[in-house]
Amino acid sequence: MRVLVTGGAGFIGSHLCERLVRKGHEVFCLDNFFTGRRENIRHLLDCRRFQLVRHDVCEPLLLEVEQIYNLACPASPVHYQYNPIKTVKSNVMGTLNMLVLARRVGARILQASTSEVYGEPMVHPQTESYWGNVNPIGPRSCYDEGKRVAETLMMDYHRQNGVDIRIARIFNTYGPRMAESDGRVVSNFIVQSLRDQPLTLYGDGSQTRSFCFVDDLVEGLVRLMQAEELHDPVNLGNPSEFSIRQLAEQIAACCGREPRITYRPLPQDDPTQRRPDITRARTLLSWEPTIALREGLERTVRYFAGRLHRSRHSRRSQPVVLAELPFAERRRAYREAGNWTDHDGL
Ligand code: NAD
Ligand code: UDP
Repeated sequence: MRVLVTGGAGFIGSHLCERLVRKGHEVFCLDNFFTGRRENIRHLLDCRRFQLVRHDVCEPLLLEVEQIYNLACPASPVHYQYNPIKTVKSNVMGTLNMLVLARRVGARILQASTSEVYGEPMVHPQTESYWGNVNPIGPRSCYDEGKRVAETLMMDYHRQNGVDIRIARIFNTYGPRMAESDGRVVSNFIVQSLRDQPLTLYGDGSQTRSFCFVDDLVEGLVRLMQAEELHDPVNLGNPSEFSIRQLAEQIAACCGREPRITYRPLPQDDPTQRRPDITRARTLLSWEPTIALREGLERTVRYFAGRLHRSRHSRRSQPVVLAELPFAERRRAYREAGNWTDHDGL
């Protein structure tokens, strides 16, 4: 099959591209390289079934494909809050453009949605039937509401135009190829531990998340894409729930360190608890995660240890701490990376 993966040079996207190429598909990896990196897909560039397309999903695209995985959107709060208008555009205009493409060429399309559609959940664990509790005007809204509108667009294109859609509500996913400067909790804590720096715990660390290893997630995405007549959203995540403090302790232990903590303010609207109810995925996809947190963390620590060893002196490889980074400094970092211009927000 000819398969398009938007956001294909990012963390999850690169694993998905690799998996699809290995299964014998012809893969078009589309990315604007905001948070994605060429090195994530470098090993695929020589493969004749793999093509890299530098493109922004906010612009229309015509490509003859049979399947579209729409992942293009920064996922870390640090990055999606940097240029919130662009985040809304990537979710709304990007998903619209991909739906227009899917309709035109008759492709099946899978949207990478998120547990963030549940916001600060009043139902625990979160089932797909729960409508969520999202602040529409807060700093996370560009992402949460953007993803909610993207789901709306998906359903409306399905009902109105018969587009064959799939919606994956992805819960926190981690693993190799997260960037050191990604700013999410797993990469931050691992990089800080390996550098023998204190771990930056936001709030008191009692908030919970459920962490899924990337290989498990990719398996779930592929199964969902293959499933017939499954147009309702499906939670994909690992139902084992941990407090962020427990996570800090586990990561320090994996790195052979005593946990040293430095406290930072809890960011506004940071959800207090998250755990997926994966009954639907278990029943309809025969899917459930197989990699426990400890094993996944060990694999991820090995990856970062190798990377840090190679790039010890790189300034850009510092973990990004949301509460500490002045906006101007962040903008300079993006400019230096060369992938982001101010007009992207217009
Ligand atoms: P990531 O930031 O590593 O990857 C996102 C990719 O999209 C990057 O390669 C980036 O350059 C690209 N991108 C961003 N805006 C774009 C645009 N306008 N046009 C083209 N490309 C663009 O993040 P990830 O963790 O790999 O997340 C991938 C997808 O999965 C995202 O849609 C995210 O919302 C979703 N998701 C991820 C998680 C998680 O825990 N990792 C959880 C829920 C949902
Ligand atoms: N977090 C933290 N220290 C960090 C980064 C994040 O304590 O250096 C916390 C954050 O406040 C949140 C949890 O870890 O409660 C998960 O944050 P992440 O940014 O990884 O994902 P999300 O909030 O989107 O689930």
